[in-house]
Amino acid sequence: MRKVLCAIALAIPVVVFTQVPADSVSPRAKQLHDRAIVVDSHDDTTQRLIFDNAFDIGKRNPNGNIDIPRMREGGLDALFFSIWVPSEVTGPTAVKRALDQIDAVREAVRTHPHDLMLATTAADVRKAAADHKIAALMGMEGGHMIDDDLRLLRVYAALGVRYMTLTHYKNNNWADSSTDKAAHNGLTAFGKDVVREMNRLGVMVDISHVADKTFFDAIETTKAPMIASHSSSRVIANHARNMTDDMMRALARNGGVVMISYHAAFLSEEFRVASEKKNGNVVAAIDAMSKKCGGNEACTTMEGERIDHEAMMKGDLPKVTWEKIIEHIDHAVKTAGVDHVGLGSDFDGATMPLGMEDASKLPKITDALLKKGYSEADIEKILGGNILRVMEAVERLKGA
Ligand SMILES: [Zn+2]
Repeated sequence: MRKVLCAIALAIPVVVFTQVPADSVSPRAKQLHDRAIVVDSHDDTTQRLIFDNAFDIGKRNPNGNIDIPRMREGGLDALFFSIWVPSEVTGPTAVKRALDQIDAVREAVRTHPHDLMLATTAADVRKAAADHKIAALMGMEGGHMIDDDLRLLRVYAALGVRYMTLTHYKNNNWADSSTDKAAHNGLTAFGKDVVREMNRLGVMVDISHVADKTFFDAIETTKAPMIASHSSSRVIANHARNMTDDMMRALARNGGVVMISYHAAFLSEEFRVASEKKNGNVVAAIDAMSKKCGGNEACTTMEGERIDHEAMMKGDLPKVTWEKIIEHIDHAVKTAGVDHVGLGSDFDGATMPLGMEDASKLPKITDALLKKGYSEADIEKILGGNILRVMEAVERLKGA
């Protein structure tokens, strides 16, 4: 693309003056973005730490969405590393895999002391930003990893886990998932005990992935604000993983925050419908990918994103561009209020829209919100202020 622009520049210089590179942001946006504490509440980079031998978080990688150089370039100050094992993996195996991932995040911090700092509180995140380090936090994606045992929840909290998504794609023994057949009518009595214990431990209750009834049961049970760590708007893209306007308003009344996911199928209804129809070329590519990757989760995600991007470029799937993120943020702000919206990319775990290929592109969000007329103070809240406020509230209620 750059080469084409240069060729045009030689022939018709005047065109160049009106050309603005797609990734350019205004000096005001850059300044604001640098000043703000930018927090991303959901990144699946942990799978790469475990499964991808070629991955070095300290170097710029040719694939994936997250590493230290690209976080630095994109002004990302804090991220929640997801601790995730598939719903089908349960019992001691799930626990072992969760502990391995917690260790991998802590080791990444230990081996990159000049760039990363382990953070478990909002104050830690602020300190890391002041010290020009990236705050590494942990969120557990799926309550099945506690193996129906509050003692394990307490162990995970002690190791630094600061939110837990009550379910993943399938129900567990005490909560229904949004993408499974209802089995518990929301949260069971034990599920409500889990929420209360999370409140007591200062672990945020995350309602991304849960069934609508589980959401409403959790919001009735919790004493602390909750988060949706990576969900978008169901009015715009009718995916069960997204939130209805009623849910967004209820979350706002609870003092919580919806962190907008950038996954193409959660951003665009057209893309969601097309990808669920399963285009033959895409299905064949996915089959080949499954054979190639086996059970390697990092490989599956990297390859899955590549396949979706190729399909978008070939016309096998509709193109989704990064501006859809802004549409979701704006809808959530209009629905829940500007104090209740943040960023939960799902980097390294989903299909990013075109133009938001990795963390280095984040300043474009600040630039677009400024252009939309958002105040600098409101943009700072969306970039990270809101989730930090929720963390502080959850910390204050700890032990109650
Ligand atoms: Zn997820």
